[in-house]
Amino acid sequence: MGRVVIGVDLGGTNLRTAILSPEGELLERHKEATHAADGWARVVERLTENIKRLRDAAMGRGLEVAAVGVGAPGVIRGDKGIVVKSPNFPDWNNVPLKDQLEEALGVPVVIENDANAAALGEQWRGAGKGISSMILLTLGTGVGGGIILDNKIWHGADGMAGEIGHMTLVPDGRPCTCGNVGCLEMYASARGIVQSYHEALGNRASGSPITSEQIYDAARSGDKTAVHVMEEMGRMLGIGIASLINIFNPERIVIGGGVKEGWPLFIEATRKEIMKRAFEVPAKRTDIVPSQLGDDAGMVGAAAKALEQARTA
Ligand SMILES: [Zn+2]
Repeated sequence: MGRVVIGVDLGGTNLRTAILSPEGELLERHKEATHAADGWARVVERLTENIKRLRDAAMGRGLEVAAVGVGAPGVIRGDKGIVVKSPNFPDWNNVPLKDQLEEALGVPVVIENDANAAALGEQWRGAGKGISSMILLTLGTGVGGGIILDNKIWHGADGMAGEIGHMTLVPDGRPCTCGNVGCLEMYASARGIVQSYHEALGNRASGSPITSEQIYDAARSGDKTAVHVMEEMGRMLGIGIASLINIFNPERIVIGGGVKEGWPLFIEATRKEIMKRAFEVPAKRTDIVPSQLGDDAGMVGAAAKALEQARTA
């Protein structure tokens, strides 16, 4: 019987599951609302049902599920398979997700932080193919990060490494949801862009664009304020990336998330800032490219983890 894996992206909004071949081919997929407010027990139950349904579908194709990988938001103890805490699931405290799923499914399960999973996904099947040291930055509502060094996710002592969005850029800057002020996330996320635009307009702000997409549109049609806001955002991103380059000397930096839609509006400013600030040799060699997998990255990366688990088990 051929062996496959199941990858799961357990998001605060959507629950994505898929069957992947060992070569990373997506054989079957499913997406539904997570309903995080139903509480952790019901979410885990729904997740289990989804995985079982996919496993049945795999069996129907004569395929056996060798392992399941789950990407979940928040603080994950991957070694123990525990979701310690998650901003998207307020009632999740030390949920033993791996044990619960393994008991229900009878196959090995591996849990990874969602941003790290997305980095693994891009490395396996997307913009980081063949790259052993790369960093993924996901510029969405917030800013997520995953650091892969020599083909391994850098987890850190508490499994909390890679929080690139909370690198301090402005000592007395905008208050961040993490409790710090002046974090990269407050300037390079969709929310940060909207805030910058409103700040730039000052009391002329009434009736102005309210979404980041509208700001990209305004910039594309030549709105000077919007153009400037996007360049400043690019500059802040460049300051952050210059530090990453100096510290990690990655081969590639992959940028994903919704803000990627505004790519031509900020990337030049980002590159200029990097060349100004980072050491010349690593700055020149680091490719900065857009992500390729979009919303699939986390699910695909979780499957990559599952495959690794199945190989070592
Ligand atoms: Zn922060």
